Amino acid sequence: MGMSGNILGLLFFLGYNEFFDSPKEKRLVRENAQILSQYEIMEKKLDQVHNVLSDLQQRDENIYRVIFQADSIPSSIRLAGFGGINRYEQLENLTNSDLVINTARQLDIAMKQLYVQSKSYDEIVELAKNKDQLIRCTPAIMPISNNDLTRTASGWGWRIHPIYKIKKFHEGMDFTASTGTDVYATGDGVVSAIIESGTGYGNHIEIDHGYGYKTLYAHLSEFKVKVGQHVKRGDVIASVGNTGTSTAPHLHYEVSVRGVKQNPQHYYFQEDLTADEYERMIHISSNSNQTFD
Ligand SMILES: [Zn+2]
Repeated sequence: MGMSGNILGLLFFLGYNEFFDSPKEKRLVRENAQILSQYEIMEKKLDQVHNVLSDLQQRDENIYRVIFQADSIPSSIRLAGFGGINRYEQLENLTNSDLVINTARQLDIAMKQLYVQSKSYDEIVELAKNKDQLIRCTPAIMPISNNDLTRTASGWGWRIHPIYKIKKFHEGMDFTASTGTDVYATGDGVVSAIIESGTGYGNHIEIDHGYGYKTLYAHLSEFKVKVGQHVKRGDVIASVGNTGTSTAPHLHYEVSVRGVKQNPQHYYFQEDLTADEYERMIHISSNSNQTFD
């Protein structure tokens, strides 16, 4: 009797535990549910953080870094993860480990991206402080005094090569002018190369403006600067000529940004050029079918 009473007691105890939680357990269950719903809210908020971050990155990459000619930050760096050790091993045995690990991971990624983004802004701020210098160095005038816009003979685009008579992409702009006409530096910079040649560009000068900008002045008759010389926008650097592969006296002018040739037309911001004149120049330069090269 006593024994069966003990067994009954044991069964009762086990049954009670099975079906009725103690007050402490009830509290823990309630807290667990609350924590779980908090994690779900955090996960949603982290999604929003990632959206905002991605928007900041887009603007940084496509506007700020472009304006200040800063190198692009590759997405491999922006979105870099954490290689090597498993940072979340201690979270793997939890009931809701997927949710907890994912939240922890999202938070780590957001923090890392924020760090990269904040470094980028530091760099942009420095560049913005030197904005005046950047503006002075950017090629921004025509390399030849342009009172008569017919001097813009041929611009950027596919043209018939004057000597080889084949279609060739013209990567600069030609300004026809008589031999001896002054050639101006189009932005502040350092003369990085002076080359004498009987072919191709002929006698030509290259100016390094910093911030990734370089300009090239070709077919010159005379150099008026030396390699390493600092020049200011508007300084006379050379005289127009007919050297190299050229059919008539003219200046062939190129602008490049980090080694990629640009349409020079986008780099004329002269105040003395009215909208009409600018339109006319573009019209002339894009309709001329043959370059002087
Ligand atoms: Zn040319």
